[in-house]
Amino acid sequence: MKKRLQDAIAERPLLGDGAMGTQLMIAGLEQGNCGEAWNLTHPERVLAIQRRYVEAGSDCLLTNTFGGSRIMLNRHSHADAAVAINAAGVRIAREAFGDRDGYVIGDIGPFGGLMEPYGDFTEEQVKAAFREQAQALVDAGADAIIIETQTSLEELEIGLIAAREAGAPCIIGSMAYDVTLDGSTFRTMMGVDPERAAEFMQERGADIVALNCGTGMDMERARQAVIRYHRSTQLPVMAQPNAGQPKLVDMKVVYDETPAQMVEGVVPLLEAGARIIGGCCGSTPDHIRKFCEAMNLHLAEKRLP
Ligand SMILES: [Zn+2]
Repeated sequence: MKKRLQDAIAERPLLGDGAMGTQLMIAGLEQGNCGEAWNLTHPERVLAIQRRYVEAGSDCLLTNTFGGSRIMLNRHSHADAAVAINAAGVRIAREAFGDRDGYVIGDIGPFGGLMEPYGDFTEEQVKAAFREQAQALVDAGADAIIIETQTSLEELEIGLIAAREAGAPCIIGSMAYDVTLDGSTFRTMMGVDPERAAEFMQERGADIVALNCGTGMDMERARQAVIRYHRSTQLPVMAQPNAGQPKLVDMKVVYDETPAQMVEGVVPLLEAGARIIGGCCGSTPDHIRKFCEAMNLHLAEKRLP
């Protein structure tokens, strides 16, 4: 039987994947359209992206289900396809691994709004949406669930509970931090710092604590986040920083940190204790290929006498 993800990374750090959203755009998805629906309408395009990540060395693939909760899908009138879209996301990622024994991580992103009393959504609606999505991902065979790009502990908690109730073999909580204006530190948009987030995720039964996306969170800031997580938990840490800062060029959002620039941060991240390293917005199969080379070299050197 395959090892659980949390057991596999106790033995050796693993490589995650890179961005899905920006890759879907390159494959023809128009800004504002529903990328998750492609799991049903254009599965071959999603598969082609994920195969490139596997060829680049990814040990873990996140399913193309970031906006796959009923609440998010409802904006595109696809709410009734929620279960089918999530199940297809798991199948496609599994197919991308081919004969390889990789880990399929079911991706749950934010529900995209605010809960009462600040917003229009009831806690019950969010619970039901995450429960449905987590169950669809687990039933389709996901090896783990990641609740990612989270900024509030309330929403994160609903996601973590949904993953546990769905019977996920491994649960990952992932926060999006923003560097403060004066550059001195970073916290989530809702004011949560990494020490508190790690402690909270451990209390709520996460198996892996993670960070992804955010503003100003480059490889060096990700390294600092790993160290700060380890102040309040011994749980393994996963890091998926963006490929630099988004810039608007010709009315298109671009991320301009090259694979050669980003790869400089891989060994420092490993030395800080990160056990899964991938990329978020703007990262590509070329970034992951570089990460793979750096990680393999580092691990081979460590094994020398
Ligand atoms: Zn991102």
